[in-house]
This record gives sequence, structure tokens and C-alpha cells, in this order.
Amino acid sequence: MFDSLSDKLDKAFHVLKGHGQITEVNVAETLKEVRRALVDADVNFKTAKEFTNTVKEKALGQNVLKSLKPNQLMVKIVKDELTEMMGGDAEGIDLSGNPSVILMSGLQGSGKTTFSGKLANFLKTKKTKKPLLVACDVYRPAAIDQLHVVGEQIGVEVFSNKEEKNPVAIAEAAIAHAKQNGHNVVILDTAGRLAVDEVMMNEISDIYKAVQPQETLFVVDAMTGQDAVNTAKAFNNVLDFDGVILTKLDGDTRGGAAISIKSVVNKPIKFIGTGEKMDAIDVFYPSRMADRILGMGDVVSLVERAQEQYDEEEARKIQKKIAKDRFGFDDFLKQIQQVKKMGSMKDLMGMIPGAGKMMKNMDIDDDAFKHIEAMIHSMTPLERENPTRINASRKKRISKGSGTTVQEVNQLLKQFTQMSKMMKMMQGGGGKKMMEMMKN
Ligand code: GDP
Repeated sequence: MFDSLSDKLDKAFHVLKGHGQITEVNVAETLKEVRRALVDADVNFKTAKEFTNTVKEKALGQNVLKSLKPNQLMVKIVKDELTEMMGGDAEGIDLSGNPSVILMSGLQGSGKTTFSGKLANFLKTKKTKKPLLVACDVYRPAAIDQLHVVGEQIGVEVFSNKEEKNPVAIAEAAIAHAKQNGHNVVILDTAGRLAVDEVMMNEISDIYKAVQPQETLFVVDAMTGQDAVNTAKAFNNVLDFDGVILTKLDGDTRGGAAISIKSVVNKPIKFIGTGEKMDAIDVFYPSRMADRILGMGDVVSLVERAQEQYDEEEARKIQKKIAKDRFGFDDFLKQIQQVKKMGSMKDLMGMIPGAGKMMKNMDIDDDAFKHIEAMIHSMTPLERENPTRINASRKKRISKGSGTTVQEVNQLLKQFTQMSKMMKMMQGGGGKKMMEMMKN
């Protein structure tokens, strides 16, 4: 799904690679590429432009944390904006009526009948509802038969009347039937046409007025890109529907409809269809879709955690101490705690692009920190400040206090000395440099 868009966005973020910070110039270049990627994905130009303008504002207003790279931050900003543009939070459907009436509309071939079946199946299994499917297409007997086939497949009753030529009468009779037989959801599958025309609109409006559905859903084929968006817009101008169903997303390589329908029509996508089978239905989650489009969920989580946890002020203090050779065990402890706050070592390493595979088979022991912390806690403040004071008898005391061996204390002191040297060598080191090293 959306492979070429993901690739192009990835290339756009590469523009920022190697840059230390986000500037007007490099951000403009990146966003030109992002815009091009969106237009290639069949997002209309105006929407793409608005999108990149918002991203630009956000990017320039953001303080790039020293622990992050500009391209990583940009991925996160684009992800958030994509999510927002696709609707923010997931929108459910209203099932409060008794029965709740759901009116399905859409062009012929959009996947309306298939989706009606999928939705009935979804409600039956996930929400333990008792749905009734209703064939309101009075023009094509084959459409009625198709709904019966679907109903049989999923074990849901189908209401139809081939003799009746008035769809409103069928819908009303179906609702009465539902009430009598304990169906709490009624799904009306209506006739589709080749284009949104007057006859179709009048018919659906008549049904709408007569039955006052809880939900009116407009079904569009994602593979038709901007056409899908335009059709939804035309339809919405006449009948103020509640949400969009985006079908055939499994065959959509571009993604334009998914990305822009909400911002153009101002109606949320509620469900997506991802195949011909009855279980190929998903609630539409804008955030998950944005992750799929970017294909970089791991980078986004890394940025989020770093933004939440990384204390820049603390890092600066530590840098100063290193420069003055005053880095002690208390600082070391703080560093460990900082790393620990960000999650387990293995998780953290796994999130770094490229490092995941490498780290998979390595045994990173989070418990190792426990011993180190215990040893540091057993030191006196003076010892922590100046580890060279720690002689043989002090080592014995520390090992006793922390439940470790003298050997382990020796090892810690050795590691600490080496690390201090290394940090000094790295100039301006501290946590920041350590993280930089981890990222490269
Ligand atoms: P309707 O005329 O709007 O009722 O459309 P149908 O439900 O008859 O669907 C038209 C065609 O699209 C059928 O061949 C369906 O199997 C197919 N279809 C529907 N939804 C999906 C989907 O999510 N993915 C794929 N790949 N095919 C779908």
C-alpha cells in the first residue's frame, strides 16, 4: 500500500540528513520534495500546498533537541500533520437507535454491496449486534441476488422484495420487519449509478427523509484517487452525509484519496476496505495510516520519547563537568537514569534505524544497571565526587553494602575511568555525544 509515496517521502527527508539544524533553506527544499510526493500520490495541489505550509511553520518554530537529527524531527512533524489532515482521532459510527439505521450510498462498483456485508459481519462479531441487510436497489435484480449471497456467507438475514419498485417502501418495510424480529441494526444497500446525478440524489434523499438514518455513509473506491474525492464532495453538497468508507485500499498504490478526502470534504473516513473477503474491513485510524504511509513508526517513537524525557539542561551541566574533569559517580548515575527513563536498552537500540537487526541477537541485560546503581548508592558523597579516593578498604565496604563482589567494584571503577577519559576526548560529550554515537 502506498509504496511509492513512502519511498518519495523517505527521499525528501534525506535532504535534511547531514544538516545540523532546520533552516529556512533546507526546510524549503525538503518540503518541495514532500509536496511533489503528495501531488504524485494524487493529492490535489492546493491541499498539498496547505499541508507543506503548515509543516514548514511547525518545523521552523521547533527547537531541535540536540539529541535528535533534523530529519528525524521532520518525520515526526509530517506524521503529526498527516494524522491531523486525515481526521485526527478515529470516528466511530452511531449505533444508538433501535434499530440503528445505516444508509449506504455510492457509485456503482464502488464496493457498496460488499461493504454492507462486511459491516454487518463486523457488527455481528465485534459488537454482538443483530444486523439486517436490506436490498433497496430496484433496478438491478442481480444486485439483490448479490446481497443474498453475501448475507448467506456471513449468516445475516437479508430483506428484499423484487416486486416492489419504490425503494422508500422497501426501506420502511425492512425497518418494521427489523423491529418485529429483534434486529438492532438495519443496513440499507441502495442503488448506485455511474455518476452522482439527479435521479440518484433524489432517490437517496427520499430514503433519507423517510427513515432518518443514524448514519449515512458514502462509499468510494480509493483507487480512483482525486475522482473519489470530487465525487464525495459533489454528493456531500446535496446530502450532508456522516462519513466516508474508503474501499479497495489494498489495490491503491498512491494514497491520494485517503490523505485528502477529509480536508476537502470535511467528513471523516470511518472504515476502510482492504480486500474482497468479508473480513477485509478496518476501522480507519488516521494515526496508524500516517505510520503506514511514512513507514517510519520507529523513528517517530524515538523522537517522542526523546522529546518527553531528554533533559537538555542536565546534559549541558554534565558537559561542563566533563570539560572541567569534574564528572563523578553522581553524574554517572543521572546518565543511567536518563537512559533508563527512555525505556529498556534493547528497545531503545531496536528503534534506531539499522541497529534493530544487529541488536536482535545480542543479550542486553537491563539488570546490569541495578548492580551499578547499588554500588554507587553504597559510596559516600565524597567518593562519588572523587572516585580516586576509593582504596581497598572502601572497595570492601562498597561491595558489602551493595551485595556485590570487590571484583565487580573494581570493574565499575575501571569502566568509569575509561568512560570519563573517552567523554573528555569526545569534547563537549556527555549524554548528547553518547546518543549521537548510538545513532550513527
Ligand atoms: P457496488 O456496485 O458498489 O455494490 O460494488 P460491489 O460491492 O459489487 O463491488 C464491486 C467490486 O469491487 C467487486 O468485484 C468486489 O469484490 C470488489 N471490492 C469491493 N471492496 C473491495 C476491497 O476493499 N478490495 C478489493 N480488492 N476489492 C473490493
